[in-house]
Amino acid sequence: MPKIPECDRCLNNARSPYLVCADHPTGSEDNFCPDFTPDPNAEPEELWEPEGASYYDGELILQPKQRWTPEEQLERLDYHPMFTGRCPSCEMPFDMKNTPSVHWDCPHCEWVDDSV
Ligand SMILES: [Zn+2]
Repeated sequence: MPKIPECDRCLNNARSPYLVCADHPTGSEDNFCPDFTPDPNAEPEELWEPEGASYYDGELILQPKQRWTPEEQLERLDYHPMFTGRCPSCEMPFDMKNTPSVHWDCPHCEWVDDSV
């Protein structure tokens, strides 16, 4: 089926193995579609990670909060046990083999993760 890359994020895509789209059932001839309509719900192709998640240490980590400024994120890199492996209050190391993905409350002192 002569689909073009745009078909995957086109509103007219019939999402059928037998039909490219309603306007061009057999696809586009010359790698260009005059009726291409961007689907607002389609994921941009560059986005290969789910939104709000990132890879950390080979594991996909869901990040509960995405409103940090770049400065805040840098601060967290120095501070948060997710990145330092240590409690910012009592400096006790966290068990990085068995890490919580949401709450990083310290088992050794009163420190609780208030970022969630
Ligand atoms: Zn602690």
